[in-house]
Amino acid sequence: MMRLRRWLALAFLLQLSIPALSEELRDSFSQGRPSIVVLDPGHGGRDLGAVIRGRVEKELDFAIARKLQEQISRTRGLAARMTRAGDAFVPLADRVDRAREAGGDALVSIHFDDARRSRSRGVAVYYYGRFQKIRSRPGERPLPDPPRSQIAASRRLAFRIRESLREQGIQAAVIDRGAFIVLKSPAIPSVLVELGNLRDSAEIGRLFDPVYRENLTLAIARGIEGFLAQTSALAAKR
Ligand SMILES: [Zn+2]
Repeated sequence: MMRLRRWLALAFLLQLSIPALSEELRDSFSQGRPSIVVLDPGHGGRDLGAVIRGRVEKELDFAIARKLQEQISRTRGLAARMTRAGDAFVPLADRVDRAREAGGDALVSIHFDDARRSRSRGVAVYYYGRFQKIRSRPGERPLPDPPRSQIAASRRLAFRIRESLREQGIQAAVIDRGAFIVLKSPAIPSVLVELGNLRDSAEIGRLFDPVYRENLTLAIARGIEGFLAQTSALAAKR
């Protein structure tokens, strides 16, 4: 156990890339409670999200979140929960509550972009940025800004996911202006991933290619996994 802890601490210090968990690390996870990844498919119910040429964002968000849930659940030591079980409307602040109630160690919200611009930028990974004002929606409960420690951890999670996507040859950017209510969990590292621009036919078309879809979700799952492995290495050092 000590040897493993030292290895994890060293891996963290050297910022080594951990593309998939080793058997040893999986065993260490399985000895304690599993790390819980909360997946938050955007929109739902009467909130359709963007609707472009017959493609409905809430359905795509849900399909991708389910795929991620499958992949994460296959990893020993990790469990995945969803903020909505089906096509239900869940207010944004309630999603934050659900993540906490589930004992989430990381929250990943899944969305698509709806931008009128021609150049595609691929996948965008947002973490909370204080300097942007959140437009309050009618009926939405306001939440305070998350503390700096949450923002720092969310930033690490965002970069880890980007690194993992790039290793799969998928273009991705980290954006620190995520003025989204779902990113306001006080203690859970939280990111919002936009998987493409719904107005970009080529970008969205790729999602219907099972190989691309598999690579995309696997890369995100591995990024989350790598982040949680580093976090447990940090905890082991203390
Ligand atoms: Zn959305």
